[in-house]
Amino acid sequence: MKKEIGWNFDNSYARLPKMFFSSINPTPVKSPELVILNDPLAESLGLNPEALKGEDGAAVFAGNEIPEGAEPLAQAYAGHQFGQFTMLGDGRAVLLGEQVTPKGERFDIQLKGSGRTPYSRGGDGRAALGPMLRECIISEAMYALGIPTTRSLAVVTTGEPVFRETRLEGAILTRVAASHLRVGTFEYVVRWGGVENLQILADYAIKRHYPEIDDDENKYLSFLQEVINRQAALIAKWQLVGFIHGVMNTDNMAISGETIDYGPCAFMDTYDPKTVFSSIDYQGRYAYENQPLIGGWNLARFAETLLPLLHDDKEEAVKLAQEKVSGFNEIFQSHWLAGMRAKLGLFNVEEKDEELIKDLLSLMEKHRADFTNTFLALTRNKFDESSLFKTGEFAQWKKRWEARLENQEESKADSHKLMQNSNPAVVPRNHRVEEALEAAVEEGDLTIMERLMEVLSDPYEYSAEKAEYTKVPETNIPYQTFCGT
Ligand code: AMP
Ligand code: MG
Repeated sequence: MKKEIGWNFDNSYARLPKMFFSSINPTPVKSPELVILNDPLAESLGLNPEALKGEDGAAVFAGNEIPEGAEPLAQAYAGHQFGQFTMLGDGRAVLLGEQVTPKGERFDIQLKGSGRTPYSRGGDGRAALGPMLRECIISEAMYALGIPTTRSLAVVTTGEPVFRETRLEGAILTRVAASHLRVGTFEYVVRWGGVENLQILADYAIKRHYPEIDDDENKYLSFLQEVINRQAALIAKWQLVGFIHGVMNTDNMAISGETIDYGPCAFMDTYDPKTVFSSIDYQGRYAYENQPLIGGWNLARFAETLLPLLHDDKEEAVKLAQEKVSGFNEIFQSHWLAGMRAKLGLFNVEEKDEELIKDLLSLMEKHRADFTNTFLALTRNKFDESSLFKTGEFAQWKKRWEARLENQEESKADSHKLMQNSNPAVVPRNHRVEEALEAAVEEGDLTIMERLMEVLSDPYEYSAEKAEYTKVPETNIPYQTFCGT
């Protein structure tokens, strides 16, 4: 007898007006094989991992078999890509539907790399194994770090090649998200849908992600504020672990406040605010130091879409929107500062804290210190041979910090605990990710990747076994990442 998988679909997005999507099935593939299944995630979704292993799971995650209750569709959206407005949509993804979990939570189940859709433009609708495994590693690492993110349920190979610069092995990632509503979804509806559809979308997003504001007097203004709050909190979390998203186009900014679209993202090793990894980001638009600024820019585009709902009077609407958007930076700063205080073991607030933090960052930049390891060293009170730690400047800074730690009621042990919980020992370092992907893609050896993912699933606890994953890369060759791969 076939085991029950446990699907429990209720597809609210499919009930929106037709302009929001195109109903389309994934394109079946030749010979799907399951490469990775995320058992704990499957279980939390109410799915039975045992029933998803082997051929049955491979058929579902490849799109060859449509689960009961699914209503496959490709979502329409637009977006500002590197500042330019473009019509987009799921060009290589299909939303199977929304799985309602045993706890009553709702998650999109999306296949990425599942074939062409009406929004594919020139693309083949497909994805390659390396980038899908990469998304799996990094998104799951983000989750373990406590950063809101879409997740990775499974990766299958398709048995079909994809052609990029070379011939690559085709694959499909099953992505799980609170939703795939984007700033770009609102940009799309404003451009092509009129106010009525805009309101339908806004009401839908509020019900799905911000039900607590549904009765507010100006709920659309509250909605704008809530999205700003979540993005400010999210981007602060990125900054605090050295995560560079790499392609913060408005179509890659989720209304839910989750990190979405793991294309050219990467973690920074050496602290340099100008760090850019993406091969196509020539201007450094999406550099580490620009992420908060770009967040604000994207939210301004979002606010513009909501204008007709904010107030009947256009000028008044603009004023309301501007007030909210201009508040972004302060909200971001407060999250960032709170996070940085925690990284330094500080519980209470002193005015000079910001100076203390910025002075440390300046020294890290000047002495090309490793971002993660500097905070790890402070946490463990173990300083290696890194050049920063040997300088008198650092010794002086450390004295100031230690004096500052005395100015609070909490014990040294409490401070230490706070730092441990705020400073990851391990992040997905680029050379480790590359090493894991190379073994998986070139040799079909998943063991290195599985070990890496296991280490990354518990990032804050330092242990001797993890020591090798804290090492910085030996080469100085600049790391490069790629979009749409
Ligand atoms: P991204 O850079 O992943 O956010 O992709 C931007 C847009 O291009 C999205 O709407 C994707 O669905 C689409 N896209 C990316 N790669 C492909 C592909 N190989 N075929 C069709 N559409 C694609
Ligand atoms: Mg995208």
